[in-house]
Amino acid sequence: MDLSWSAADSAFRDEVRAFLAAELTPELRRAGRLMTSVYSDHEASMQWQLILHSRGWAAPAWPVQYGGCDWSLTQHYIFSRESQLAGAPSLSPMGIRMVAHAIIKYGTQVQKDFFLPRILTGEVFFCQGYSEPEAGSDLAALSMSAVSDGDDLVCTGSKIWTTHATEANWMFALVRTSRTGKKQQGITFVLVDMTTPGIQIRPLVMTSGEEVQNQVFFDDVRVPKANVIGRIDDGWTVAKYLLEFERGGGAAAPALQVMAEQIAEVAATQPGPAGGVLLDDPAFARKLADVRIRTEVLEILEYRVLAALAGGGHPGAASSMLKIISTELSQALTELLMEAAGPRGRAYQPHATCPGGPIADFVAPEDGYLSGEPWQAVAPLRYFNDRAGSIYAGSNEIQRNILAKAELGL
Ligand SMILES: Cc1cc2nc3c(=O)[nH]c(=O)nc-3n(C[C@H](O)[C@H](O)[C@H](O)COP(=O)(O)OP(=O)(O)OC[C@H]3O[C@@H](n4cnc5c(N)ncnc54)[C@H](O)[C@@H]3O)c2cc1C
Repeated sequence: MDLSWSAADSAFRDEVRAFLAAELTPELRRAGRLMTSVYSDHEASMQWQLILHSRGWAAPAWPVQYGGCDWSLTQHYIFSRESQLAGAPSLSPMGIRMVAHAIIKYGTQVQKDFFLPRILTGEVFFCQGYSEPEAGSDLAALSMSAVSDGDDLVCTGSKIWTTHATEANWMFALVRTSRTGKKQQGITFVLVDMTTPGIQIRPLVMTSGEEVQNQVFFDDVRVPKANVIGRIDDGWTVAKYLLEFERGGGAAAPALQVMAEQIAEVAATQPGPAGGVLLDDPAFARKLADVRIRTEVLEILEYRVLAALAGGGHPGAASSMLKIISTELSQALTELLMEAAGPRGRAYQPHATCPGGPIADFVAPEDGYLSGEPWQAVAPLRYFNDRAGSIYAGSNEIQRNILAKAELGL
């Protein structure tokens, strides 16, 4: 593993910087900087995806034949870091970073030809239908029924916590096609057109006030068997493969580094508890240094996984380790952000932020009243949303169980 930057890497970094400087409008940068969670404003995110797509950079980690980039490991890292530094909005991970990998590995040629180009353009926008009211950590306990009827599976049941279900026009879902044998058997991985009759969506309100997650109800929804990925009753194989990409395989360290730098910057302007500025307060400085050191360790671990991916491998159990470390660091950083924001960070001002979903019943003040700086308005929403980091994509307790089994043989 070679971590040094060559002249070619520096030239690539300059190329990326020039592209970002030319293409990121002030509105897009604002949407990136004022994100209240891992999701940016939907419109901004889609706009940015189209710009990246026209440059051939929307899905750099895909194989080249499907529209990915023939980049070295270092180039992937440079691109991710520079995008974060420039304040680019994030792209939704469900299509490009998640289901696309399952389609590439397990899909038919017809499925690849239909979905992959449309995921790149954003014409097809996916949400993830894994969790159910009685199946979260114990995902294999899922029970949404899918009964075979001619060329279709007829689906009845409900999915919960479905992020961006209202924006999505497709869902990748796990359904129960058989109830005999082990619970991991008899699960099927399907792609569902969200306009199919029988689907109803009810938004869930998060502690931040945003409506990004939903419960989705299915009542005799017909899904063509042609939309099954892999084999009927063998969806668990596909589901597990996809989860490795959900939990790791990207680069979280650059975003955390950028956030730590921003916190240091603002803490240098805020009063400390004993006079001077907050950044010079020994207790605050020690916590920030601790997070920065752990982020550097994460970066090295991410390099290792990227190296495995570049060699044709997949993240494996290492993705569980990356998920735990990155979400714990993110939570520690949002705590520091709240400390830096001070009393201004307590005011509820969603109009000053770029939330990842609508906020119902909130009327922005007519005079555009803003207490403090916009980043201070982001702090509490970011803080509340980040509490979910150790729950979604499989809770951190479950990730520790996976590591104990796969790596320690316990
Ligand atoms: C913000 C957010 C977005 C989400 N987005 C999506 C999405 O788009 N699509 C989707 O399908 N799902 C989504 N989820 C659902 C998420 O995957 C589940 O919430 C998660 O898997 C936990 O399941 P649960 O909520 O049912 O909690 P439970 O499984 O009931 O767990 C409750 C608690 O018990 C602990 N626990 C459970 N079993 C064990 C065990 N064996 N050992 C130790 N501790 C255990 C858990 O760690 C947790 O702390 C999202 C969740 C959140 C919060």
